[in-house]
Amino acid sequence: MCGIVGYTGDKHAAPILLAGLGKLEYRGYDSAGIAVIENKSITVKKTKGRLSALRDMIESEEALKSNCGIGHTRWATHGEPSDSNAHPHLSHSGRVAVVHNGIVENYMALRDFLLGHGYTFQSETDTEIVSQLLDYCYHGDPLGAAREAMHMLEGSFALGILFSDFPRMIIAARKDSPLVVGLGDHENFIASDIPALLKHTRRVLRLQERELAVVTPEEVVVYDRQGDVTEKTSETVTWDVSSAEKGGYRHFMIKEIMEQPRALRDTINPRIRAGRVTLELKNIGDDFFQSLTHIQIVACGSAWHVGCIAKLMLQDMLRVPVHCELASEFRYSNPMIHDQTLCVVISQSGETIDTLFALREARSRGAKVLSIVNVVGSTIVNESDDVLYTWAGPEIAVATTKAYNTQLGVFYLIALYMADLRGRIDTAGYSAAIDGLRALPDKAQGLLQDHTHIQQMANRYFNQGDIFFMGRNLDYALALEGSLKLKEISYIHSEAYAAGELKHGTISLIEPGTLVVALCTNMKLLEKMIGNTREVKARGADVIAIAQEGAPGIEEVADHMIWLPAGEPFTLPSLSVLPLQLFAYYIALEKGCDIDKPSNLA
Ligand code: GLU
Repeated sequence: MCGIVGYTGDKHAAPILLAGLGKLEYRGYDSAGIAVIENKSITVKKTKGRLSALRDMIESEEALKSNCGIGHTRWATHGEPSDSNAHPHLSHSGRVAVVHNGIVENYMALRDFLLGHGYTFQSETDTEIVSQLLDYCYHGDPLGAAREAMHMLEGSFALGILFSDFPRMIIAARKDSPLVVGLGDHENFIASDIPALLKHTRRVLRLQERELAVVTPEEVVVYDRQGDVTEKTSETVTWDVSSAEKGGYRHFMIKEIMEQPRALRDTINPRIRAGRVTLELKNIGDDFFQSLTHIQIVACGSAWHVGCIAKLMLQDMLRVPVHCELASEFRYSNPMIHDQTLCVVISQSGETIDTLFALREARSRGAKVLSIVNVVGSTIVNESDDVLYTWAGPEIAVATTKAYNTQLGVFYLIALYMADLRGRIDTAGYSAAIDGLRALPDKAQGLLQDHTHIQQMANRYFNQGDIFFMGRNLDYALALEGSLKLKEISYIHSEAYAAGELKHGTISLIEPGTLVVALCTNMKLLEKMIGNTREVKARGADVIAIAQEGAPGIEEVADHMIWLPAGEPFTLPSLSVLPLQLFAYYIALEKGCDIDKPSNLA
């Protein structure tokens, strides 16, 4: 999820690798390292912390005079940021070094397999498995070993691999994580992101799913998933550095919106094994999940909106009282929690101060705290009883999108896991829910394919003074998020309303031309929402409605429709939030706002 670079040519590799990693620094990372080959021996230098620390470590090293190497900046997913967890990872024989972006889903099974073959491990990462597995598969043919290992790996990966026996060669491979090869003159490069290459070349080959490249100074040979050589045509990158950092998108926010299918896949798939949810918690046991009598969710901002959805979902599926409180209010509310309370705290960064204080309050009253966090090793993680990470990757735009969605993903898993443990779901319901979860990333991808209609709506409505969002039940919680997203990046005044509440006052604010976004994704509440839509239409509102494909009656009353694919009711928020994010984005774009860094937000 963070940065990979590689170089093979006739220049000194280490400075090129360090400079390349420097170009990927904008993404954020927690540790860095390089591996180079000299005299058929691999040297690894790596450290927790900033690249400057790695530079200090290397610049004093004469031994690193090599012309071939790989480098990495890590965004930890498995094992906290530390020197030993930093990449590259060397196999125990010292013959293979690996840098990796992504998540190896079956790393536990592979670890057991390798332990059985006498391998030992120095780190807590999923990546070290890859280096040892390559070593296990290697009998003199590096390409064969890479192919065999790739077949055994499940999950997402972009890999840069060195074999000490082949001191001028890098093997690169990818699945669900980007990787490009940069073409030079008697030198070639690999990188996870274009900015790392731009100083040296603009000619790139993009590796596709399950392709593998053998890169030497003289040539690059790419093999397809069947193992056949595939002729690839290079493309010339015309982006400047700033758009290269955004993967060619105009803003990090839209890039991150588009990354949601991958982020959901990475967060959900590793936790479904053989058709069952596995959470792999260390301290909170199944007995507690079975006996708890109360769930308390605390969070701030968009994470609190996730909590509002989770509250409805957990309560419905478990029939246990669930409360969701703003972290900044929770502390002062003399909360009713006890040793049979599970307190779930949600924070992208793991450093949200209000959430941290709420966590301490909950623990001091005896609750068990489970955190949902995106940054490994953060303070909230350290102070929780247990953690479930979202594997969204670094989020750079201030307005959250992919972290929000992966937090939802984690709650789907928790709800299903607990419902099963507590006997609240039958076999058919359980497997339908698993199928629904597995289908979610592809559905999100489908929905994100074409957004011209949302762009057109934004183009029409960006001059509005006020925009209302309304919905019921889960759709009300989504309305809160849609409204916040719009406010935070476009500065348009907006309110979210539980649709049934409008008539208790706010409806008087609806005037001819006021825009109302009606969330109508719940089929059971569709009639009610059609009624509310009629009410605002009667006062002259323009209505954009979001509903499941085939929902009857809504198209006749709304001015514009956004259709969602039908799905498991509890997974729908992950889909319905996508048009809301895009709508906010395009409105802010039309208004010329500083989308990635909205005023006064940090
Ligand atoms: N899962 C790997 C780790 O935790 C890779 C992290 C990354 O993509 O930076 O080390």
